[in-house]
Amino acid sequence: MSHPFTDLAIAQHARVVPIEEIGARLDIPKEALLFCGQGYAKLRWSLLKSLRHRPKGRLVVVTAITPTPAGEGKTTTAIGLADALQRLGQKTAVCLREPSIGPIFGRKGAATGAGRAQVIPREEINLEFTGDFAAVGLAHNLLSALADNHFYQGNELRLDPSRLQWKRVIDINDRALRRIVVGLDGRKGWVRQEGFEIVAASEVMAILCLARDYHDLRTRLSQIRVGARLGGGSVSSGDLGAAGAMAAVLRHAFLPNLAQTLEQVPAFIHGGPFGNIAHGCSSVISAEAALSLADWVVTEAGFGSDLGGEKFVDIFCRQSGLRPSAAVIVATIRALKLHGGLPLDALDREDLGALEAGLANLRRHVRIMRDLFGLPVIIAWNRFATDTDAELQCVEQGARNMGVPSAECRHWAEGGAGAEELGRKLLEAVEQTPSRFRFLYDDETPLWEKMVSVAEKVYGAGEVTAKPSVRRALSRMEEEGFGKLPVCFAKTQYSFSADPRLRGAPEGHSLPVREVRLAAGARYVLALCGEILTMPGLPEDPASLQIDIDEDGRIVGAL
Ligand code: ADP
Ligand code: MG
Repeated sequence: MSHPFTDLAIAQHARVVPIEEIGARLDIPKEALLFCGQGYAKLRWSLLKSLRHRPKGRLVVVTAITPTPAGEGKTTTAIGLADALQRLGQKTAVCLREPSIGPIFGRKGAATGAGRAQVIPREEINLEFTGDFAAVGLAHNLLSALADNHFYQGNELRLDPSRLQWKRVIDINDRALRRIVVGLDGRKGWVRQEGFEIVAASEVMAILCLARDYHDLRTRLSQIRVGARLGGGSVSSGDLGAAGAMAAVLRHAFLPNLAQTLEQVPAFIHGGPFGNIAHGCSSVISAEAALSLADWVVTEAGFGSDLGGEKFVDIFCRQSGLRPSAAVIVATIRALKLHGGLPLDALDREDLGALEAGLANLRRHVRIMRDLFGLPVIIAWNRFATDTDAELQCVEQGARNMGVPSAECRHWAEGGAGAEELGRKLLEAVEQTPSRFRFLYDDETPLWEKMVSVAEKVYGAGEVTAKPSVRRALSRMEEEGFGKLPVCFAKTQYSFSADPRLRGAPEGHSLPVREVRLAAGARYVLALCGEILTMPGLPEDPASLQIDIDEDGRIVGAL
């Protein structure tokens, strides 16, 4: 059940196969690759364009129960499942988000899988990779600078300096930048409070991940709301003339990156939007390409099914036209015990009572993916060394009671072989149960009703509360023609409610919507519930303290 090597050691000992060989598994000609480094490349636009009208493979979304702070293993399971499907003779690809340096150097560490289920080259993918995050940051900050310059040069568009919505971004967790003062070197009356968010929270990142082609990218970039106009109306990025240069900065970042799993499954690793303030899925353009090239594409949604799963359906699928064939719900015995009432530091102990009680959390996630969204569902028990056989039997019985197939998964310890049962059950489920995929709400449903629908049906809330100003803001958006957009909730990932301490499957709670914002370029309406940090801080013992290089420039430590 365990192996003596660190994730980094496993990754560094693996052979990184030339990326043209990985591409060849999907019949990608070498000329279609834009080589970026040892073992990874970008796909050229000419290839992407030629794939447009090809028949598409099957899309499988990996989601999870309500997570513990460490994460329940969605990325690891998505990789293990893709490895397993390839072992079962299927032409497979996996689509994942690009890791963001902020959390890597902060609390979470690397985000490229773990154990024997990883994508490689690990160090490259985790540390800047092909520079996409940097490009998104540049494009974002270019718009900030152009807006400030517009003030400075006389403010012809009459941007209201007190109602600027566009902050700045950087890909480092730096709480000192949350609230800052800018403009000290400018004109009188220009000094104002501002702040930084991390790059994953930028609307530019969401746009990069939702745009379908360069034209769409540029159009969306021009639609970003920068702020309000004095005397009414708003100023967009397009009004400031910023969209062209922003698109130019993003021309390479927009192309999907291709890397590989430890078992040489082609891995598209592209885009990294936040799971709370954004929709949390890797890029549409990489999913479309993967689905045009492979028969099975496994992808991961952010956090649990209430957050990432719902946004995958109502934002990613709605905007892209892509449709999943099945959902895998990753569950750990550890997290179920947490939901059953055990404290975080007691999860290593066998406790069948807590486990039984915690199954209520899983049941709710099954209901969301299967009954609300109409997808065939398979549960993946991501096995940890501390889980006992009695505990496994208990949860397997729980799954049978829910009428859902489930499989013990040992890909962390054993690689793709450890997820073959999951792979087989997935193939079987898709064969036997046609997807009756549906969105939670129609485009035509008023924005407030959409929010109520998510809150009541997905979160189990009894009511949604908001100040009159929130309702007025929604009416204004509808008057301006944005009423058909989907909603994107920013809420804690640790609970179905807005209170991270409410574990299990809380019901009848009240969901307070504190603020709503229009993301006109990403094309959704953000609903913020509770305090959502868009600029995290570093913990007492940041992961960066464990990262170093040796004399040959190789990464050592705990990346
Ligand atoms: P998620 O994508 O859901 O956030 P990850 O797949 O990134 O979760 O896993 C989070 C971390 O949990 C991994 O980096 C790894 O350290 C640990 N982990 C996941 N699965 C296992 C397992 N089966 N055994 C031990 N550790 C695991
Ligand atoms: Mg993940």
